[in-house]
Amino acid sequence: MSEALELYPRTASAQASVGKIEIANISKRYGAFTALDDVSLTIEPGTVTVILGPSGSGKSTLLRTINHLERVDEGFIQIDGDYVGYRRKGNKLYELKERAILKQRIQVGYVFQNFNLFPHMTVLDNIIEAPIVHGLLTRREAINRAFELLDTVGLREKAHAWPRQLSGGQQQRIAIARALALNPKVMLFDEPTSALDPELVGEVLEVIKKLASSGVTLVVVTHEIGFARQVADRVVFMVDGKIVESGSADRVLNRPGHQRTQRFLERVL
Ligand code: ADP
Repeated sequence: MSEALELYPRTASAQASVGKIEIANISKRYGAFTALDDVSLTIEPGTVTVILGPSGSGKSTLLRTINHLERVDEGFIQIDGDYVGYRRKGNKLYELKERAILKQRIQVGYVFQNFNLFPHMTVLDNIIEAPIVHGLLTRREAINRAFELLDTVGLREKAHAWPRQLSGGQQQRIAIARALALNPKVMLFDEPTSALDPELVGEVLEVIKKLASSGVTLVVVTHEIGFARQVADRVVFMVDGKIVESGSADRVLNRPGHQRTQRFLERVL
């Protein structure tokens, strides 16, 4: 795998200044059920945040609100000061039109549990599609960029393969390259290794680890505690739609302050 990685070419001083996420008092309900309950969290630019919690605690819902795949009922989210999914006029927020939402989403890469590659496109076409459609790069530029990203994820030789010819781990690495092709400020990973056979988990986590030092803000929902320990600047633990604690990986994983965290860690470790 190539070591060189320049995803979001920035000067050293600018590096820490984009990709700040501010989640302010958000709540999300499905009918009478509260999936997110007054969640607030500030994520600093260029950091890695791992979100842990039992199944159904709202981790995925929280992640989806960050790029407006899910609409919040209360509160708001800002990325570098821009409201996600809304624009502000006076004291009111108005939801953006679909086109503007899609444009905003360019800044936020999303990697799904099940890869979601386009099955009818080759690996290369999967990667070049979005930057061309969004008018960010010419076809030639997009192809050059795609090969750089294929080097980053160690799969240059698969450029002309079809997704179905790849292992799950390889498909997920391509899905990461595809998300990076739009030069996002923020990358969201929703249980990126949970659909993989155990022997393929490591290769995907290695790629995410590499991104950790690239300046892109990473938010990762995962059950991989070892990964959290090694890579996370911050670990957030959720239960029943609430953040019950958050802090450094060392603090939350080694000296949890909440019984629910302690019990969860005992079960997964
Ligand atoms: P986690 O990622 O922590 O497993 P989720 O965010 O996926 O949890 O879900 C939180 C809760 O919200 C779950 O109880 C889930 O069943 C519920 N939920 C999620 N999406 C929907 C939906 N579209 N409609 C109804 N309930 C939902």
